[in-house]
Amino acid sequence: MDINLLSPHRLDRLRELVADATRIVICCHKSPDGDALGSSLAWAEYLHSQGKDATVVVPDAYPDFLQWLPNEEGIIRYDKYPERAEGLLSAADLIFCLDFNTTSRVGDMQAVLDASPAQKILFDHHLSPDIKTVMRVSEKKLSSTSEIVFRIVWQLGAFDAMSKQFAICLYCGMMTDTGAFTYNSSDAEIYYIISQLLTKKFDKDLIYRKVYNNYSASCIRMRGYMMYEKLQVFPNEHAAYFTITKDDMARFQFVKGDAEGLVNEPLRIKKMRMSISLREDSEKENLVWVSLRSVGPWHCNKIAETFFNGGGHPNAAGGHLHCTIQEAEKIARDAIQHFAKINDPSPKS
Ligand code: 5GP
Ligand code: MN
Repeated sequence: MDINLLSPHRLDRLRELVADATRIVICCHKSPDGDALGSSLAWAEYLHSQGKDATVVVPDAYPDFLQWLPNEEGIIRYDKYPERAEGLLSAADLIFCLDFNTTSRVGDMQAVLDASPAQKILFDHHLSPDIKTVMRVSEKKLSSTSEIVFRIVWQLGAFDAMSKQFAICLYCGMMTDTGAFTYNSSDAEIYYIISQLLTKKFDKDLIYRKVYNNYSASCIRMRGYMMYEKLQVFPNEHAAYFTITKDDMARFQFVKGDAEGLVNEPLRIKKMRMSISLREDSEKENLVWVSLRSVGPWHCNKIAETFFNGGGHPNAAGGHLHCTIQEAEKIARDAIQHFAKINDPSPKS
């Protein structure tokens, strides 16, 4: 199976850029997910194996269910240590931008990243990259940035020397970006890659449990409450939305990550095509975070762009609104009507 990604010329160029760099930073998007962290930590291991000084810098907190990833304790959070992170970014001569396509995705760290004189290299699988780089590996057809990192390390001939920890990070990234291999994961090469990762002898089922079966009791009650009390279903439009307010968060002692993946839940309803989650920011007023999910040929990224100042993948997108939660609900209802209007009125599934 041919899993090579780069032309021989580009592979040499990458080798050269790494060899010439002394201070390397790897960064990813805000609210880092399993893929952002897994790909960053794995790529850091590769760079360390080449004798390089490389640090992973992330914009802000990541959920508890990822706080076991190998070597995550070495990650520098910009929100916690802004001076340290800024120092690393401004002194770097090479920055790898992993799992994001535009610098606005790093949130409050954007100005510092934009201002850094370092050369930048992008490894990403989102559409329409617009970061100024000396090299860009943008592969929207691939499951995850972790898959990109695997293919590159494989092509560099370095996989055999990589550790079990490296394999765990990449497996976690591929698993989380495909909903545990339930979407965006029909490419046979993914399973070739996983079979290679498993030669490093880790327990993949344990990784599943650490990520998905790690709720607090109050979190699972909050999730049940959302589906029981707050879900608004539009059967004719094949869509649904729910809101998570500050009051809900207080009631269930909400912590970051508690709502992770909840937006997928309404898609388990028969014939459901799109689900929207509207979540009030835990601190700021009039800021609502939006997540959208859809299935198969019914795309939600255009809806995210048109209605929610966002974008994303065809079946997984997001955005935000500067308004009250009631106004956000009205926009969600408009978005659902628009979604129904642009789609086939007689679905087969
Ligand atoms: P989530 O719902 O997990 O926050 O986001 C799902 C996907 O939507 C992300 O992987 C990302 O590709 C995309 N996304 C989320 N928020 C934004 C946004 O504000 N702008 C763009 N362009 N994409 C977003
Ligand atoms: Mn990703």
